[in-house]
Amino acid sequence: MKLLEEKVLKEGAAISENILKVDGFINHQVDPVLMKAIGEDFAAHFKDQGITKVVTIESSGIAPALMTASAMQVPLLILKKSPSKILNKNMYQTVVTSFTKGTSYELTLAGHLISEQDHVLIIDDFLANGEAATGAIRLLRKAHATIAGIGILIEKTFQPGRAKLEEQGFSVYSQVRIAKLEKDHIELLAQEESSTL
Ligand code: 5GP
Repeated sequence: MKLLEEKVLKEGAAISENILKVDGFINHQVDPVLMKAIGEDFAAHFKDQGITKVVTIESSGIAPALMTASAMQVPLLILKKSPSKILNKNMYQTVVTSFTKGTSYELTLAGHLISEQDHVLIIDDFLANGEAATGAIRLLRKAHATIAGIGILIEKTFQPGRAKLEEQGFSVYSQVRIAKLEKDHIELLAQEESSTL
């Protein structure tokens, strides 16, 4: 997606070979015009697939996922990272390892908000090792919901996330695909490589 590619190249900051900072337009400050365009792009890509809900993980996925849900006119479901303090039998939980922090968190979903009738689109800001998306998939499967696909804003193609998701048979659409990061240098995957993968 051209607009997001330009923004990543202009305002993203590679702080190491593995981590891209996007604090100025996604993770800390949010660019609402860009988020609207991102939502419309995901809605166009996943149209006519009978999607009933958009699902994301708090907190950086919320802005783009909300715009996607708005464009698709379906509800947004936010998977929580903190365990519920209220004892509730109808609660799905799974442990996920955080890529950026190296710690684990418990992903939680209230059972009454999802059902086997749901066909969902998962949206997240980054795809690295695929742990967050795999955790979301585990929870949704516990609820017997089906998954239409996974929409990612920024995929780091040198990390194993896509392979992990595609091995399980999921369709992954990334708006920006990064080939390589070096300190202060960002390299996108060439268009033709991007379309053949
Ligand atoms: P994964 O679970 O695929 O290993 O990592 C995805 C999650 O880690 C995303 O939800 C995102 O919050 C975070 N993440 C992974 N790589 C990066 C990165 O390069 N920059 C930032 N800001 N977050 C990242």
